Amino acid sequence: IRIVKKMESDTIAAIATPIGSGGIGIIKISGKNAFSIARSIFQRSCDFPDKLQDRKLPLFSSLRSHRLYHGHILNTENGKVLDEVLVSKMDAPRTYTREDVVEINTHSGHVVLGSILDLVLKSGARLAEPGEFTKRAYLNGRVDLTQAEAVIDIINSRTEKSLEIATSQIKGGLKSTIESIRSTLLDILTDAEAAIDFPEDVGEIIHTEESIEVLEIGVIDVLKKLIDQYENARYLRDGLKMVVIGRPNVGKSSLMNRLIQEDRVIVTSIPGTTRDLIEETLNIHGIPVVIADTAGLHDTDDPVEVIGIEKTQEYINGSDLILFMMDASDPLTGEDIKIYETVKHKRLIMVINKVDLVEEDFKLAIPELWGKVPSVNISALYGRGLSRLKDLIAKLATGEYRLEVRNRIVPNLRHKNALEKSLQIAISAAKEIRRETPFELIAIDIKEVIDRLGEIIGVSAREDVIDQIFSRFCIGK
Ligand code: GDP
Repeated sequence: IRIVKKMESDTIAAIATPIGSGGIGIIKISGKNAFSIARSIFQRSCDFPDKLQDRKLPLFSSLRSHRLYHGHILNTENGKVLDEVLVSKMDAPRTYTREDVVEINTHSGHVVLGSILDLVLKSGARLAEPGEFTKRAYLNGRVDLTQAEAVIDIINSRTEKSLEIATSQIKGGLKSTIESIRSTLLDILTDAEAAIDFPEDVGEIIHTEESIEVLEIGVIDVLKKLIDQYENARYLRDGLKMVVIGRPNVGKSSLMNRLIQEDRVIVTSIPGTTRDLIEETLNIHGIPVVIADTAGLHDTDDPVEVIGIEKTQEYINGSDLILFMMDASDPLTGEDIKIYETVKHKRLIMVINKVDLVEEDFKLAIPELWGKVPSVNISALYGRGLSRLKDLIAKLATGEYRLEVRNRIVPNLRHKNALEKSLQIAISAAKEIRRETPFELIAIDIKEVIDRLGEIIGVSAREDVIDQIFSRFCIGK
């Protein structure tokens, strides 16, 4: 599982800003022909406009780096001015991609951005694929894979807390932790190889308590902590999928509408996700909570059909938290019990709604078995009990967990899977050392852990994994 870091040598270009009418739009060009392309279409203001044909265009590459230049984009075929622009010129390697980069700030509008991009492409650039600029930053060694992933996390952050995790990752928090575990393992390997090559000199150094301790403290404990971090904080980064379920008329839509009104987060759709249900994201104490408007649930009054609808069931299974709603003003029915049976294996909050219709000290008669499920009384109609409900949601999502500076390193699912495999192998390697297994065999395990961890930061990741990561990006990033 070695990756072949294929250096790309062509020049790519794309519109980097959302297309639409706006103040400015940016076209980004990266690669070895970026400057010659810019030179062929950009006319600096000091050279503009008289007798263009007589004058030599200034060598774009001789302009100072990391400066903005005012001028015009010209269609050289017909001499037409397309727009007045600011062009930035950035010399490799101090750029996003580590290649020569030109950014053209134009006015923003479909036609102007499209025409200038066309001109850039005609002048020799190729249209960039989604995420290709960031992919180049990774291939050229400016960022590792976790930092590249953080770019998209930042773009897609739905709450401030998800953003904190993403910024910590883009600064290299996860990367440096992984690098330090790998270097600990490499040290063990080096010592041990010395022991194999010169057994008379170093004796049995690998079979000592010391190396076991290094493995336990420097590798196993750190891996365990990272995996815990995933479990503790994953909803902060990935969002919590919540479903409101209950028989017709208990007040599900009323509650959802209220939550959406109070806490809705505006999100742009993430490429590559298809949605069968309409989803809304809420910000509940910094946790992005995704609720689906399970249309299937209240389109029908037949409860058997309600819980039988395949999509809803699928959604329930794929969710992280269920709000199981009941009506305080109405005794439990067989439908409630049936619904409970379909959701009882999930993380659950019982929401007793319509408490405005009953006495202060009322208690809904529920089966004894349900007593352990956390519950909250609310009135969706009057907005009572909602803050207690939100506290409960946040508590169930993260437990007592607090996102402090030292905790901000939160692996994603891909990282966690690799961490778990690494942990298993590391634990078994420690056992083998204890058993005084010949080191040649232990070395295989240790190398495997080094490789698995390398997948996380991208020094040993498969090409399809890498492609998959970058395909989640938008064009122009
Ligand atoms: P759903 O079928 O579960 O989505 O239920 P709805 O949200 O459509 O609510 C059904 C009816 O109950 C509507 O007439 C609501 O106005 C009413 N309702 C919802 N929540 C409350 C509440 O907290 N108190 C009272 N009194 N009525 C409520």
